[in-house]
Amino acid sequence: MTTTQSPLTGTVHRPGDPGYPAAVTGYNLAVVHAPALVVEARSADDVAAAVRYAAAHDLRVTVQNTGHGARRAAGPDTLLLRTGGLDDVTVDPDARTATLGAGATAGQVTAVAAAHGLALVAGAAPTVGVVGATTGGGIGPLVRSLGWAADRVRSFEVVTADGEQRHVDADSEPDLFFALRGGGGGVAVVTSMTTGLVELAGFWGGPVFFPGAAAPAVLHAWREWAPTLPTEVTTSIALLRLPDLPQVPAPLRGQFVVHLRVASTGSAEDGAALLAPMLTAAPPMINMVGPMPYSQIGAVHMDPADPAPALDAGCLLRDFPAEAADALLAVAGPDVQTPLLVAEVRQLGGASAAPPAVPDAVGGRDAGWSVFALGMLVPPVAEQVPAAVRGVVDAVSPWRSGLQHNFAGGQDLTDAWPADVLARLQQVTRDRDPEGLFRPAQPLPR
Ligand SMILES: Cc1cc2nc3c(=O)[nH]c(=O)nc-3n(C[C@H](O)[C@H](O)[C@H](O)COP(=O)(O)OP(=O)(O)OC[C@H]3O[C@@H](n4cnc5c(N)ncnc54)[C@H](O)[C@@H]3O)c2cc1C
Repeated sequence: MTTTQSPLTGTVHRPGDPGYPAAVTGYNLAVVHAPALVVEARSADDVAAAVRYAAAHDLRVTVQNTGHGARRAAGPDTLLLRTGGLDDVTVDPDARTATLGAGATAGQVTAVAAAHGLALVAGAAPTVGVVGATTGGGIGPLVRSLGWAADRVRSFEVVTADGEQRHVDADSEPDLFFALRGGGGGVAVVTSMTTGLVELAGFWGGPVFFPGAAAPAVLHAWREWAPTLPTEVTTSIALLRLPDLPQVPAPLRGQFVVHLRVASTGSAEDGAALLAPMLTAAPPMINMVGPMPYSQIGAVHMDPADPAPALDAGCLLRDFPAEAADALLAVAGPDVQTPLLVAEVRQLGGASAAPPAVPDAVGGRDAGWSVFALGMLVPPVAEQVPAAVRGVVDAVSPWRSGLQHNFAGGQDLTDAWPADVLARLQQVTRDRDPEGLFRPAQPLPR
């Protein structure tokens, strides 16, 4: 079979077509899709045509942009709708908004906005899709100053399960506007989104690395230090077991390190003074903190850009007391053998706790901390990774307050939202997709 050029402006691939293997592959190589066909959309009309085709042919629709959030493989009863071709980005500097296609990544939008001294609120990694991260909430390296990505959305253009194209904002389609800001993307396919930008040309911060052997001292110092910070400072910490691969910078390659992240919208002088006590917790190996243009926001977390087979899970915590730090060290600290690549804690609060102007479905506003663990499903450790990832979430469960959609890693989403928000999301899904056409990476609990 050859690749079929359909009346669509995009491309269709079926099993056996030369373009099919690449089209079913995304960032997470552990999730291998095997759909009946793939539609690489180039326009909102393509998306509408694909949705109608799927409905008429008894197929379900799975949407994928980058595949960073892929959690379960789409099977032969599925049409895989790839949105990477919808990557137009325009910035209105007067309105301080960006209108971006469903395929745009955070790095693309950040670069366009930076030319106007404006900043996109998104996640930590420039390669992640903006729409995917935003529909799931969106916690970035400045979340305590700038809040959730979802809170800034002004409108969406979508295709609903009936194949119709609709404009969604607070006044038109308020149920979809609520659900698409924090409830995941399962109620419609977003073709583009307009979101508010922040006047922010730069920030102060970056990464600091400590030797892994100092993890107990650094983690306990961080746990006591972070709550003393003003909300203009956002910080997180990760225990990293970095692979011996050329993509990893030489001093860190193959090392177990503690990665302290700090980012502030305040002055460099204030930031340096606030950071100083943390630098005495142990001698840092590398300190890359300083004033940075916002276009370098990805340097704070330094997430890997290359696709890899990964499994992850996370949860939200009310508190992160000494006992929780010890529990984390017992499963990911220097005294244990573990296949984990990352065990991370982010401090939340400040703007992440503030309600948005128009209520949305973002859960976890009451959480103080976010925990996340990830391992690579590669030999010889692949079989140990699921238990290790689960072990981190279990270890901190006494302090658990819920789950964040973007860090759920395919766990049941029952505690990802307050009960009334979950009930409203379930109702919107029943109303808008009564036949269950859409098959999101992470479904709502029934
Ligand atoms: C390295 C890495 C770093 C990350 N860092 C952060 C972070 O700092 N903060 C944070 O909040 N999250 C973070 N995430 C999680 C990430 O935001 C989610 O996995 C998000 O869903 C990825 O979106 P995507 O479009 O890139 O991925 P995809 O896998 O392409 O999409 C994920 C899901 O989003 C939905 N979706 C995507 N596009 C659409 C659309 N157009 N219409 C409707 N639904 C859609 C679909 O359900 C889809 O299955 C990170 C993930 C990785 C792998």
